[in-house]
Amino acid sequence: MKTMKQYIRKADIALLLLLLLTAGAIWLLPAAKSRTGSDYVQITVDGKIYGTYDLHRDKTITVTQPQKDGTTWSNTVQIQNDTVTMTEANCKNQVCVDTGTISKNGQSIICLPHRLAVQIFKAEDDSDIDAVVR
Ligand SMILES: [Zn+2]
Repeated sequence: MKTMKQYIRKADIALLLLLLLTAGAIWLLPAAKSRTGSDYVQITVDGKIYGTYDLHRDKTITVTQPQKDGTTWSNTVQIQNDTVTMTEANCKNQVCVDTGTISKNGQSIICLPHRLAVQIFKAEDDSDIDAVVR
Protein backbone atom coordinates (compact mmCIF):
# COMPACT_ATOMS: atom_id res chain seq x y z
CA MET A 1 0.00 0.00 0.00
CA LYS A 2 2.91 2.27 0.69
CA THR A 3 4.07 2.08 -2.90
CA MET A 4 0.53 2.76 -4.08
CA LYS A 5 0.34 5.89 -1.95
CA GLN A 6 3.66 7.03 -3.29
CA TYR A 7 2.43 6.42 -6.77
CA ILE A 8 -0.64 8.57 -6.20
CA ARG A 9 1.43 11.32 -4.65
CA LYS A 10 3.76 11.30 -7.61
CA ALA A 11 0.84 11.38 -9.98
CA ASP A 12 -0.66 14.28 -8.04
CA ILE A 13 2.58 16.19 -8.20
CA ALA A 14 2.90 15.47 -11.89
CA LEU A 15 -0.63 16.68 -12.47
CA LEU A 16 -0.02 19.80 -10.44
CA LEU A 17 3.17 20.50 -12.32
CA LEU A 18 1.38 19.98 -15.58
CA LEU A 19 -1.36 22.41 -14.55
CA LEU A 20 1.21 24.96 -13.45
CA LEU A 21 3.13 24.58 -16.67
CA THR A 22 -0.01 24.93 -18.74
CA ALA A 23 -1.08 28.01 -16.80
CA GLY A 24 2.41 29.39 -17.06
CA ALA A 25 2.56 28.76 -20.77
CA ILE A 26 -0.74 30.56 -21.29
CA TRP A 27 0.50 33.56 -19.33
CA LEU A 28 3.92 33.58 -20.92
CA LEU A 29 2.76 33.17 -24.47
CA PRO A 30 2.75 36.47 -26.29
CA ALA A 31 -0.76 37.82 -26.61
CA ALA A 32 -0.54 37.66 -30.35
CA LYS A 33 -0.21 33.92 -30.39
CA SER A 34 -3.53 33.50 -28.63
CA ARG A 35 -5.34 35.48 -31.33
CA THR A 36 -7.05 37.69 -28.78
CA GLY A 37 -5.69 40.90 -27.40
CA SER A 38 -3.36 40.99 -30.36
CA ASP A 39 -1.34 43.81 -31.77
CA TYR A 40 -2.35 45.11 -35.12
CA VAL A 41 -0.96 47.52 -37.60
CA GLN A 42 -3.49 49.81 -39.16
CA ILE A 43 -2.80 51.88 -42.22
CA THR A 44 -5.10 54.78 -42.87
CA VAL A 45 -5.05 56.89 -45.99
CA ASP A 46 -6.83 60.22 -45.96
CA GLY A 47 -8.61 59.23 -42.76
CA LYS A 48 -9.94 56.00 -44.19
CA ILE A 49 -8.77 52.57 -43.19
CA TYR A 50 -6.61 51.15 -45.94
CA GLY A 51 -5.80 47.92 -44.21
CA THR A 52 -5.31 46.20 -40.88
CA TYR A 53 -2.46 43.77 -40.49
CA ASP A 54 -1.17 41.41 -37.86
CA LEU A 55 1.93 42.91 -36.26
CA HIS A 56 3.32 39.44 -35.74
CA ARG A 57 3.19 38.39 -39.34
CA ASP A 58 5.94 39.65 -41.59
CA LYS A 59 4.53 41.54 -44.52
CA THR A 60 5.42 44.34 -46.84
CA ILE A 61 2.64 46.66 -47.91
CA THR A 62 3.01 49.23 -50.64
CA VAL A 63 0.34 51.89 -50.70
CA THR A 64 0.07 53.73 -53.98
CA GLN A 65 -2.12 56.73 -54.57
CA PRO A 66 -2.36 57.88 -58.19
CA GLN A 67 -2.63 61.65 -58.41
CA LYS A 68 -4.39 63.86 -60.91
CA ASP A 69 -1.11 65.28 -62.14
CA GLY A 70 0.01 61.85 -63.30
CA THR A 71 2.37 61.16 -60.42
CA THR A 72 1.83 58.36 -57.96
CA TRP A 73 2.32 58.69 -54.23
CA SER A 74 3.95 55.61 -52.86
CA ASN A 75 4.66 54.40 -49.36
CA THR A 76 6.14 51.07 -48.46
CA VAL A 77 5.48 49.74 -44.99
CA GLN A 78 7.35 46.73 -43.78
CA ILE A 79 6.18 44.56 -40.91
CA GLN A 80 9.04 42.42 -39.72
CA ASN A 81 9.91 40.76 -36.43
CA ASP A 82 7.02 42.51 -34.64
CA THR A 83 8.19 45.93 -35.75
CA VAL A 84 6.96 48.35 -38.37
CA THR A 85 9.11 50.51 -40.60
CA MET A 86 8.33 52.88 -43.44
CA THR A 87 11.06 51.62 -45.68
CA GLU A 88 10.29 53.77 -48.69
CA ALA A 89 8.23 56.79 -49.58
CA ASN A 90 8.37 59.22 -52.44
CA CYS A 91 7.05 62.11 -50.38
CA LYS A 92 8.77 65.47 -50.25
CA ASN A 93 9.92 65.61 -46.65
CA GLN A 94 10.75 61.94 -45.90
CA VAL A 95 9.65 62.47 -42.29
CA CYS A 96 7.85 59.13 -42.33
CA VAL A 97 10.97 57.27 -43.46
CA ASP A 98 13.05 59.15 -40.90
CA THR A 99 10.62 58.12 -38.14
CA GLY A 100 12.35 54.76 -38.12
CA THR A 101 10.96 51.62 -36.58
CA ILE A 102 7.97 51.40 -34.28
CA SER A 103 6.95 48.36 -32.28
CA LYS A 104 4.75 49.44 -29.39
CA ASN A 105 1.04 49.83 -28.98
CA GLY A 106 0.04 53.41 -29.75
CA GLN A 107 3.10 54.31 -31.76
CA SER A 108 2.62 55.63 -35.24
CA ILE A 109 4.37 56.69 -38.40
CA ILE A 110 2.75 59.55 -40.22
CA CYS A 111 3.32 60.71 -43.74
CA LEU A 112 1.67 64.10 -43.84
CA PRO A 113 2.30 64.88 -47.51
CA HIS A 114 0.56 61.63 -48.47
CA ARG A 115 -2.09 61.85 -45.71
CA LEU A 116 -1.07 58.39 -44.63
CA ALA A 117 -0.75 57.03 -41.12
CA VAL A 118 0.51 53.74 -39.79
CA GLN A 119 -0.40 52.92 -36.23
CA ILE A 120 0.08 50.00 -33.92
CA PHE A 121 -2.87 49.24 -31.73
CA LYS A 122 -3.96 46.49 -29.45
CA ALA A 123 -7.35 44.93 -29.94
CA GLU A 124 -9.00 43.47 -26.87
CA ASP A 125 -10.93 41.16 -29.07
CA ASP A 126 -10.59 40.06 -32.66
CA SER A 127 -14.21 41.01 -33.21
CA ASP A 128 -13.06 44.64 -32.97
CA ILE A 129 -11.31 44.11 -36.24
CA ASP A 130 -13.40 44.31 -39.36
CA ALA A 131 -10.97 42.69 -41.69
CA VAL A 132 -7.48 41.58 -40.96
CA VAL A 133 -5.29 40.64 -43.84
CA ARG A 134 -3.60 37.49 -42.70
ZN1 LIG B 1 6.33 60.66 -46.01
